[in-house]
Amino acid sequence: MNTTASNAAASVRRLVRQRLESLQRAGVEQLPRRAPLALDVVTEADSSSVPPTSVPLAATTTESPPERPLPQDEAMPRGATPRSKADRETALAVIRCEVENCTRCPELAATRTQTVFGVGNPQAKVCFLGEAPGGDEDAQGEPFVGKAGQLLNKIIEACGWQREELYILNVIKCRPPGNRRPEDVEVSNCRGYFERQLEIVRPQYIVCLGATAAHALLDTTQAIGKLRGEFHSYGKAKAVVTYHPAYLLRNPAAKREVWEDMKMLMREMGQEV
Ligand code: SF4
Repeated sequence: MNTTASNAAASVRRLVRQRLESLQRAGVEQLPRRAPLALDVVTEADSSSVPPTSVPLAATTTESPPERPLPQDEAMPRGATPRSKADRETALAVIRCEVENCTRCPELAATRTQTVFGVGNPQAKVCFLGEAPGGDEDAQGEPFVGKAGQLLNKIIEACGWQREELYILNVIKCRPPGNRRPEDVEVSNCRGYFERQLEIVRPQYIVCLGATAAHALLDTTQAIGKLRGEFHSYGKAKAVVTYHPAYLLRNPAAKREVWEDMKMLMREMGQEV
């Protein structure tokens, strides 16, 4: 191994050790198969047959974009899929730890109180995907706990569900200052995190709350009015687009349309409306 490759391997080993120690401190005792990319990197870096330029060192730094998952069937071969609740919790804890240390968006990392990862049942049938944490969420570290969150809870209750049985997350994990809309680059920086969360939870249904969530999940720029009223595909999941609860606080008349969207979902789920 030449000097450059040797230095690269040593650097990767140091980063991996730091990451593992950090996970251990966070209470993580096992790693899911897909998460320890860094361990694979060490193997590659140690191999003299792999030129240094092919060693994806960036994958272990905070500067690289988060790993984008493969389409579900490819990304999760049957034997490797975290299926039990405990395995999924562990897999999510690994990502949470990455998020807590993430500084890809310098402004958001500098102004956040804490990151806001996601909450709920790791085996949820239904996920709600919002835009970004607001002030209350930034303070409490949980998505949808402010006024918009209270309205979301009412929507959930009206559907006959309990918040605890669902999984709730945002597209980006840090509060944009002044609750501004996330910039495209911030969504792009954070995309890998929510995609990996969904990959682990594997919901059958995803409710996109607002345009940012819909555009990020469905990779479209269509107006929310055009996206509502039908099901969209995200892997094997069916996605519904509706208005964000924060929008409903400003425009209560739109609650009727949200209720139509939720009824469409409940009917699809075979649930009595
Ligand atoms: S918004 Fe996401 S990508 Fe940006 S700093 Fe926060 S966790 Fe990292």
